[in-house]
Amino acid sequence: MSTPIVTRFAPSPPGSLHLGGARTALFNWLYARRFGGKMLLRIEDTDRERSTDAAIQAIIDGLHWLGVHWDEEPVHQFARAARHREVAEAMLAAGRAYHCFATPQELDEMREKARAESRPMRYDGRWRDRPDADRAAAAARGLKPVIRLKAPLEGETSVDDAVQGKVTWANKDLDDLVLLRSDGNPTYMLAVVVDDHDMGVTHIIRGDDHLTNAARQTQIYQAMDWAVPQMAHIPLIHGPDGAKLSKRHGALGVEAYRAMGYLPEALRNYLARLGWSHGDQEIFSTDEMSALFDLKSVGRSPARFDFAKLESINGHYMRQTADADLLARFEDVLATHPEKDFFLPRLDDTMRAKLLAAMPGLKERAKTILELIDGARFLFAQRPLALDDKAQAQLDAAGRERLALLLPALGAVEDWQAGALEAAVRGVSEATGAKLGHLAQPLRAALTGRATSPGIFDVLAVLGRDESLARIADQAGSTKS
Ligand code: GLU
Repeated sequence: MSTPIVTRFAPSPPGSLHLGGARTALFNWLYARRFGGKMLLRIEDTDRERSTDAAIQAIIDGLHWLGVHWDEEPVHQFARAARHREVAEAMLAAGRAYHCFATPQELDEMREKARAESRPMRYDGRWRDRPDADRAAAAARGLKPVIRLKAPLEGETSVDDAVQGKVTWANKDLDDLVLLRSDGNPTYMLAVVVDDHDMGVTHIIRGDDHLTNAARQTQIYQAMDWAVPQMAHIPLIHGPDGAKLSKRHGALGVEAYRAMGYLPEALRNYLARLGWSHGDQEIFSTDEMSALFDLKSVGRSPARFDFAKLESINGHYMRQTADADLLARFEDVLATHPEKDFFLPRLDDTMRAKLLAAMPGLKERAKTILELIDGARFLFAQRPLALDDKAQAQLDAAGRERLALLLPALGAVEDWQAGALEAAVRGVSEATGAKLGHLAQPLRAALTGRATSPGIFDVLAVLGRDESLARIADQAGSTKS
């Protein structure tokens, strides 16, 4: 029986679940789902100042919102420090690590020398093979040692990466890394290896900014005679201009995407396609993604983040979403939106019913929930409506005159439904020779304050008879008979 797959997502707070982290989490989750395994969550909270409860909660909230689920209780790295120390001590006892008493001044000198010779700093191994008596003497002088790994001096360390292929480092370029600091605190490199080992992680899927760490970590696995998990280093996300993703490009936390009105299923779909592909298919349900996801189809070149594409995928999901569900999301986004004071005081059950009735027309025109909210403004607007410039232009003397023609015709409609309303407007068009569009435009301006909106007959129907006629009357000019 083959070992079940265990992946993990190992974010370091603070802050939020940023886009790159969200994609890493998603890939780990999809991979585990694909092969019937588990995805674990490990919070790398060793930076105590930054790892506040709020910072950790933001990551958990982000994952929940995105719909990426982990198995078991999250592991907190900081709480495992004693175990990390135990492993460092075990390596020491096995002769795979040693106490190093190099002082900060000595390390500074090594750093200076390296800089003068334009090469990266490497610890020169000066305590690696010192006799025990020297160490005892240093300890007697009150020096506190660090524990360093006795890394191989010759040969190579290589990682068989599922995305990058075989990557090899000359061991002479990798120095004896610190495992345990002189204050007894484990280093990040040690903690990651011990945690991944103890958690039974079989696949490490993470950003390729960790590739060099993979070499160091491999040496620790080897020193412990532990199996090295399968690594997969995925190229980082770049902006549309090819530069590393920055805030300017959209490197925001997922909560920002939530506030901008993206749907989690759309972001999930979009993120899955950032680096992974299945032919040229763009739209995947979550089940489809989990059935198809594979590391073999993750590309080696950086994926480019493209807002326009995310928007279009989001628009697709919005059109697919049931109206009542969209209403719930409308309210969710509204809660974080600066315009809530405009909407909330009027958002009662009557208004919710109107919103639901308008939803089919609104969702056709919106690519995000924010656009949906914006498109719904007219429902909440109070008379007399503020008109934008384009609407104002429609309501010139000719436009107002057409409204005055429409007013009695619409007033005579008994069954206030889109079909009957359309028939009434067509009747005016036929009777007066005015083109339908020439009637619809001022009507739209009067009813919504804008030059674009859902279908005008739907707008009339949703607003209802009294409100519609009053809005038209507000703008209609007097006709001379
Ligand atoms: N905590 C690291 C990060 O947030 C990830 C560590 C790992 O995946 O090994 O970048």
